[in-house]
Amino acid sequence: MTYRDELLMCEACGKTFIYRVEEQRQQAELGFAPELPRQCPECRAQESLGPGLRAGVVKWFREDKHFGFITQRDGSDVFFHHSGIEGDPEQVMQENAPVWYEVITTERGPQAINVHLRE
Ligand SMILES: [Zn+2]
Repeated sequence: MTYRDELLMCEACGKTFIYRVEEQRQQAELGFAPELPRQCPECRAQESLGPGLRAGVVKWFREDKHFGFITQRDGSDVFFHHSGIEGDPEQVMQENAPVWYEVITTERGPQAINVHLRE
């Protein structure tokens, strides 16, 4: 797979930005499908602080422990519990399953809820 820098325009603020080869490679290594970002890094960073669905990939899920982790777009992991899964748990518990999720803050830290398959 070859990558090249892409010059894109942000849908939110209209600013042009470069989607660099290194970022594209990092996203691929994290297991994300090759798709161009709709927003510039600044707008994406702001968005990730707010509510709403985010795209991630299941890193692993331990059925005996009832929890797992999701790899986020920025490469960090977020915890999720069995109770945070929506829909068919079997599909969401698979390693590398593409999922949508929301993040809430609990007393033990950030946690993903409303975890469901991205199709
Ligand atoms: Zn922007």
